[in-house]
Amino acid sequence: MKKYILTLIVGLTLALNGCTPTQSDNNKITVITSLFPQYDFVRQIAQDKVNVTLLLPAGVEPHSFEPTPQTIVTIGNADIFIYTNAMMEPWIEKVIDNVKLDNLLIVESSLGIEYIEHLEEEEFEEEELEELDPHVWLDPMNAKIMAQNVLDALISVDPENTEFYKTNANVLFAELDELKADYDEVFLDPTQKTIIYGGHFAFGYLANRYGLEILSPYTGFSPNAEPTPQAIAELIDRMNELNIKTIYYQELIDPKTARVIAEQTGAKMVLLHGAHNVTTEELQSGATYVSIMRENAQKLMEGFKNE
Ligand SMILES: [Zn+2]
Repeated sequence: MKKYILTLIVGLTLALNGCTPTQSDNNKITVITSLFPQYDFVRQIAQDKVNVTLLLPAGVEPHSFEPTPQTIVTIGNADIFIYTNAMMEPWIEKVIDNVKLDNLLIVESSLGIEYIEHLEEEEFEEEELEELDPHVWLDPMNAKIMAQNVLDALISVDPENTEFYKTNANVLFAELDELKADYDEVFLDPTQKTIIYGGHFAFGYLANRYGLEILSPYTGFSPNAEPTPQAIAELIDRMNELNIKTIYYQELIDPKTARVIAEQTGAKMVLLHGAHNVTTEELQSGATYVSIMRENAQKLMEGFKNE
């Protein structure tokens, strides 16, 4: 009887530990990432050597995400925390101030990437605001730098598996090179340079690399500020001028702005996936950063036909 109770208690403890990532979980390295691309890179480079968790629940839009005190405790119990940059996760200071840094490696995965600025005019102010664009991962070559940072972090915490990590990372690097080559083919000399986007300004790095013009009624990097009716009207005029028949919309939010524009122009609504996070269905169907980016290229090519 005693033995039965003991087994029950041990079983219960294991079940509880299984809910949150802890260092005792199978004695594996635990990694927490803020966004999907880093999560995907850890998954591919480390495979079964680590327990990796995506901080954002599936389907949650990340710009409005704020970690709770409990979330910060969970991060503090991990071995590695990989975030994007201070523009994407402005709450990173709060994490750094509230965890013990001796046992946790905090990695800024954008380290080494040159940030671009997005100039914008504030509606009620004369001055122009300069902001750095957090969406570095939407350029495949930046994604490669992030994957390299992920690799370096894994090796520094778990040097015993260096060769394993390097071998897997090389497969991923080759895939990212191939993705970049495919993007070059589509975007170095596109039939059209203008993309109409009914979401927040997320594809600046891609536009920057290929000289594309992305027009959006949103003024900033956050999807939380609603666009003005005037901005929407101007965009509709421009679409009609250029005879553009596709309005792209953003993942994980209700695409009501894109819908308004589609209704008024008769344009097709097509998802252009910013890959910040994915839905449960996408996760289950095996979506990767590369698969999302390939689909984006395909959809942009279709849109350029103006049919
Ligand atoms: Zn964003």
